Amino acid sequence: MNDTPIAALAAELRELLGERGISVELPALERASADGSYLSPVIREQLPLGVAEIVAWPTSAELIALTVAAAVRHGVPITPRGKGTGNYGQAIPMSGGLVLDLSKARTIAEVGDGFVTADAGASLSAIEQAANRAGQQVLMYPSTANSTIGGFLSGGSGGTGSIKHGSNSDGFVLALDVVHAVPDAQLVHVDGEAAQPYVHNYGTAGIIARATVALEPLQDWRGFYASFDNFEQALSLIRPFADLEPTPRLVSADQPMLANALPREPGIPADRSSLRAILDAATVAEATRLVEAAGGRVEAVLEGAQATMKISMMSYNHPIEWLQKSYPDTYFHIEVSGDALVDRIEELQAVYPGGMLHIESQHGRPIGMLAGVYSSAEEVYAGFDELTALGVSFHNPHQWYVDFHPERTAALAATTDPLGLLNPGKLRQPTVATGRKVS
Ligand SMILES: Cc1cc2nc3c(=O)[nH]c(=O)nc-3n(C[C@H](O)[C@H](O)[C@H](O)COP(=O)(O)OP(=O)(O)OC[C@H]3O[C@@H](n4cnc5c(N)ncnc54)[C@H](O)[C@@H]3O)c2cc1C
Repeated sequence: MNDTPIAALAAELRELLGERGISVELPALERASADGSYLSPVIREQLPLGVAEIVAWPTSAELIALTVAAAVRHGVPITPRGKGTGNYGQAIPMSGGLVLDLSKARTIAEVGDGFVTADAGASLSAIEQAANRAGQQVLMYPSTANSTIGGFLSGGSGGTGSIKHGSNSDGFVLALDVVHAVPDAQLVHVDGEAAQPYVHNYGTAGIIARATVALEPLQDWRGFYASFDNFEQALSLIRPFADLEPTPRLVSADQPMLANALPREPGIPADRSSLRAILDAATVAEATRLVEAAGGRVEAVLEGAQATMKISMMSYNHPIEWLQKSYPDTYFHIEVSGDALVDRIEELQAVYPGGMLHIESQHGRPIGMLAGVYSSAEEVYAGFDELTALGVSFHNPHQWYVDFHPERTAALAATTDPLGLLNPGKLRQPTVATGRKVS
């Protein structure tokens, strides 16, 4: 009996995608409704925020468009999903309906000179490998390197490579094939400036079905590990490392307690502050000189894509995840940026009890994750004024509203999603400070 919109949609999608292309079984629905928001104790207290009623796995950009069209005709809400690693609950289907899982649409169609075109579900690590085989590298990828290009462009902001190239809204996206929530939905090609309004708004103005992003010539990278007696020594090298020429691909530093929580690595000795960088081979000698002049020691210099990927996977949000594994139900974090991360570190860490900074550099600007011991959401928000007084820009990762050009997104969505079916619940005026997108 197809007497409900979900049943009717399930029947239609079974025809379109095959028996294994959809599910209405509870375990699959629950898996499709969870994301990386476990990182936020504030959001965790509010889970489950919503559960899908049907999940579909289209395997190509064209099938994504046909699936969206079917859902719109049945009036079913559509929440797109890549690997579900977004850490603000952005991929949770708050109105139920369809979770459009794009992780099986992973064709990498073309690697050209300076660009790669891939379906939304291709992982950043697969894209990087394809680029490497053609003597190129992707401009940036997140520490969750196995996440999808569609999810990274829609929910993420930066990572390895951002030290030079900024965030994924800084010219990384060359063109997109997007799908609007209309009954005759099809692939709509947008490029250059026209593609940018679809970036970092959680699919609320259109589904990214295929993306063309920028590549650059492959460099000879080294995974570089150094350690120090104290964090201030490591911190003093964030700017000099960012200024090395050619620019590193990543530089990260941690307090001894945060470093102790990271996976055991010979390059990360216990109880010492850790600095990790992905360096152009030509700068290793100068980096070594800087480390020794700051009173530290070089622990390891490793070759090969796997070695540098390992360093990427200990950057951005990952040290916080490892900290939470070592100390369950203890820490929260805020995403922060600004010169105060280096220049006013003691005041910054004093904003929250147990305050500890994990730091990176992005486009010449210190950015990082400020961890603190969690007591309540109110205590988290109470620190926002102090951060502002220190000149720190921050982003509140404990809420799921679009906070990157929300007005632009709302204006676009008025025409591309007239029925409000795309990722409902993410595009409205927040009641708590979201801060500004950090990168
Ligand atoms: C431990 C940890 C470390 C992280 N490190 C980083 C980091 O270094 N840099 C960073 O930027 N982020 C980071 N993140 C956040 C997240 O992992 C990345 O942004 C990741 O690239 C998201 O990709 P995904 O495939 O998992 O997307 P999902 O989580 O599945 O989706 C993210 C958002 O985009 C929407 N979406 C997904 N696919 C599409 C599509 N094709 N079209 C339109 N909308 C879509 C979803 O509805 C959701 O709102 C981290 C998260 C965790 C838990």
